[in-house]
Amino acid sequence: MRWGVVMALGLVPVAPPEPSRLALRLGWPVDCRLGETCAIQNYPDEDPGPGVRDYACHARSYDKHDGTDIRLVSMALQRRGVNVLAAAEGNVLRVRDGVEDKSVRDQPPGAIAGRECGNGVVIAHGGGWETQYCHMRQGSLVVRSGQHVSAGQVLGKVGLSGDTEFPHLHLTVRKDGKAVDPFALGAPAGTCRAGRSLWQQTPPYREGEILVAGFAAGPVQMKDVQANGADQRPRPSRTTPIVAFVQAIGLEAGDVQRLVLAAPDGRILADNQAPPLDHDKAQQLLFAGRGRVPAGGWPTGEYRATYSVIRDGKMVLTNTAKTVL
Ligand SMILES: [Zn+2]
Repeated sequence: MRWGVVMALGLVPVAPPEPSRLALRLGWPVDCRLGETCAIQNYPDEDPGPGVRDYACHARSYDKHDGTDIRLVSMALQRRGVNVLAAAEGNVLRVRDGVEDKSVRDQPPGAIAGRECGNGVVIAHGGGWETQYCHMRQGSLVVRSGQHVSAGQVLGKVGLSGDTEFPHLHLTVRKDGKAVDPFALGAPAGTCRAGRSLWQQTPPYREGEILVAGFAAGPVQMKDVQANGADQRPRPSRTTPIVAFVQAIGLEAGDVQRLVLAAPDGRILADNQAPPLDHDKAQQLLFAGRGRVPAGGWPTGEYRATYSVIRDGKMVLTNTAKTVL
């Protein structure tokens, strides 16, 4: 009937858009602030062989990794609850819940075989496009199979389920059943930063990143930083040792890190220049500190810890953290 009306008006009928020709546009799938509460830990691996290469021709990935890992800066943040959001409108194809939030490091080998994604959601967007969300928190999923979801709708929360040892969302984007790189769709093999981004707002590529920078009253371990981020207790005071620490991700072989701790008057209390990294590091922790408290305690004022990474003679990362004693 409607067709007839159109014809009667003498208008040229317009064919409906063919979904398969429409590219998917992706919103950010985690309710976090990149560079503050979250960071991209791994990109998809574009190398077809045993090597590792992300779309920018660095190695912020691992062999056969088919998605984008968006990492929360601490387990404390994960426990408070960070929402996973539908990257685009679509229909929920499948969900899985019931997998415990537990690091693979704390489980026997093979414990999560067949459940590597952990608690997850798959959404079909039409035109052969799908997005898959992995490692979500047990019991947090709020959508069910067959449900229509709008872009940005809450699916559940970031967790620690499946094949993971830090809280993150793994997002796989598929076209016609095959994983694609949302940062570089259609990039010819072997090219760098080519192809087309599917993101509405493409996150800037970072050649390494500072995840956490803070101060403590003594040595801290990676597990402490992963648990509580910059918020380490007890906090340093005028009468305790003072230790600055930085957790960086995505560093490369040959990178030279340095952490300099300075007193309020500018005097250098500690200067830790690490030897060049012998291989690429997914994450790395560096300290600079003073254990011996001066008689009468540390002077009051602002203490600064300046971190830098030199790569091929160029500074690729720098940051100054401050604390007041
Ligand atoms: Zn992943």
